[in-house]
Amino acid sequence: MYISWKERVKNRFSKYPKVWSALQWLKTVMYVFNYLRYYGFGIRSKSGSIREINVEFCSACNLRCKFCALDHLKPKQHISPKVLEKVLMELYTNPLFKNVEVLNLYNGGETLLHPNRLELFELIAHHKQSALKQGKRFPKVLLLTNGMLLRESLAKSILELNVLDVIQFSLDGGTKEKFEELRVNAKWKKFYSNVSDLIQLKNELQPNLQIKSITIVEEPNDLSVDWMDEEFRGLIDRMDSFELRRLHDWGGEIELNDNKQKNKYKLGCNMAMHQLVVLPNGDVTVCCNDLNSKGVIGNVQEQSMGEIYSSKERRHYLDKLLFGKRDEIELCKGCQSF
Ligand code: SF4
Ligand code: SF4
Repeated sequence: MYISWKERVKNRFSKYPKVWSALQWLKTVMYVFNYLRYYGFGIRSKSGSIREINVEFCSACNLRCKFCALDHLKPKQHISPKVLEKVLMELYTNPLFKNVEVLNLYNGGETLLHPNRLELFELIAHHKQSALKQGKRFPKVLLLTNGMLLRESLAKSILELNVLDVIQFSLDGGTKEKFEELRVNAKWKKFYSNVSDLIQLKNELQPNLQIKSITIVEEPNDLSVDWMDEEFRGLIDRMDSFELRRLHDWGGEIELNDNKQKNKYKLGCNMAMHQLVVLPNGDVTVCCNDLNSKGVIGNVQEQSMGEIYSSKERRHYLDKLLFGKRDEIELCKGCQSF
C-alpha cells in the first residue's frame, strides 16, 4: 500500500501542534533556501528551479467530477503542435530547464479529448529521441487520464509509440458505486475494461511502462484498501503503484470540511517554486492548482519559456509568497493545499 507522503506526514503529525508547526517552518526554510539559491542576491542561477512542467492538451473534460474546480462553461481549446513544439524544444536545449524531471500531460480537462492526440504524442516521441541522440536528458513523460476514452485501439497506438513512461489513472471512491457518484458521467464497467486492456497490452508492447493510480478517499473511510470492494481493490492491486489521498481544495476554489487541511502556514509555496503549466492557447500559469487561468504570467506564442521563467510576472508570485503576502494574490489567497 502507498499513501502519498504528504498525507502520511499530515496524518501522523497534524495532531501534535508543536511538531506540525516545526514542519511548516521547515517548508518555509526550504522555500527561502531555494529562493536564495535560484533568485537571490541579484544573481540568477544558470539552472532553474523548475522540476515539473504540465501541458494541458484540451481545456474541456468529458466528466463532471463532484469535487472538480474546472469551469466547464469556458471555451473549449486545444493545444496546437506549434505551441507544444516550442515547449518541447526548450526542455532539452535551454539549461534553465535542465532540472525538469517530469513532463506532465495534464492540467484541467482531459488530455485524450484532443482530436489530434496521436500527432502530439508523435511530436513528443520525436523530441525525446532527438534529445537522447544528442546525449541530452529528456524528462519522464506522464499522462494522467480519467481513462474513459482509452479504448483498446487507442491504447495500442499510444504504446506502439513508446513515448510515455507513466500512465496514471484517477481511480476515486473505493467502491464502484462511489466511483460513479464522485466521477459524474464515468461508468465503472467501461473504465475497468479500458484499464484491464491497457495492463494486458503493456505486457505485450511496452513492459517498461508504469501504470499507476491516484485514489481520493473520502472521510470517514481510512486511507487504506481494506474497506474497498473486491473488484475495486483487485484493480488497484494490478497497478505498478498506487497512491491514496484526501481531497485538496484546488487553490481555495472548493470548500473542504476538513480541519486538518487548514493551516496557518502562509509563507512560500513549493508549487510556485518548482512548477510551470502551459495551457492550450500558450498561456503559462504558475501552478496546476490554477484550473481557470487566474495565475497567467506569460504566453509561449509571444515569449520563450526561459523568458517566462525569468519574468517579473513570475517573480511577483515568488516574492509575494516569500514575504507572506499570499492574501494579496488573487489565485493564492484562499489556497490551503500546499
Ligand atoms: S476528470 Fe479531472 S478535469 Fe475532468 S471533471 Fe474530473 S477532476 Fe475535473
Ligand atoms: S499558493 Fe498559489 S501557487 Fe501555491 S499551490 Fe496555491 S494557488 Fe498554486
